[in-house]
Amino acid sequence: MTRSVVSKPPYVLYDGGFDRLNHPKFDIMPLIQLTPEIKYLPSVENPLSSDVVFIKPAGSETTWIFDTGTSGEAAQLINQIEGKKNIVISHFHPDHILNLLKVKYDKLYVTKYTKKYTRGGEIVESEETFPDGVKLYTIPSSHSKGALVLEYKDYAFLGDATYCHFRLSAREYNVQLLEQMIKKLEDIAAPNFCLSHDTSFVQPKEAVLRIYKKILARRTAGNPTINVNDFFNEDGGVKESEDSLGNNAKVKL
Ligand SMILES: [Zn+2]
Repeated sequence: MTRSVVSKPPYVLYDGGFDRLNHPKFDIMPLIQLTPEIKYLPSVENPLSSDVVFIKPAGSETTWIFDTGTSGEAAQLINQIEGKKNIVISHFHPDHILNLLKVKYDKLYVTKYTKKYTRGGEIVESEETFPDGVKLYTIPSSHSKGALVLEYKDYAFLGDATYCHFRLSAREYNVQLLEQMIKKLEDIAAPNFCLSHDTSFVQPKEAVLRIYKKILARRTAGNPTINVNDFFNEDGGVKESEDSLGNNAKVKL
């Protein structure tokens, strides 16, 4: 089933990238406002394009952009933003980084592993907190190497970091990485976790932690991985009977 963005309130009309009003070309963009400082363009499945988050801390001249997506709409939105633009890339997968080729920006923040693909950007190794309150840090992830989190006030943007790894037809978690990820998630101060591609982009921290602890509880002695194939239907959607929080994404990411 294709997700309909029309069902996701509250909508705000595109405002020209926080600062400009009523740009005729973009007045129907389905940007969703989380707070007056945080908006996002929801992910789409065809072509696969990640959620793109725009954060403009009050009083700051800089807009932080978390992931660039691949869609023309996302690239247009990023290019329409005025003032300084800092882009943060959650991880190296193409649906999160491809628009880097099409957009202009001032600074780019990546992990060492992601830089192999972006070829540029400042590497984030330990936690960095910027004067406007934006925090960047890495997180252990079964889904991809070099995952980066952006935290701002009550929201932590996790990209695909919490998702499983796809090995041929197997969907699995690495036990060690899952344990480390859960520890890191527990330490995050923000009460809301934002998971890319998920039909519910924003989810309560505690609910997200519950599902990953439930997955970790499936580990068996001597097996370094946990298979979660039975969480999913043939089409990649999560089975109704499963607690789908955090694994709701319907597509192979
Ligand atoms: Zn991914």
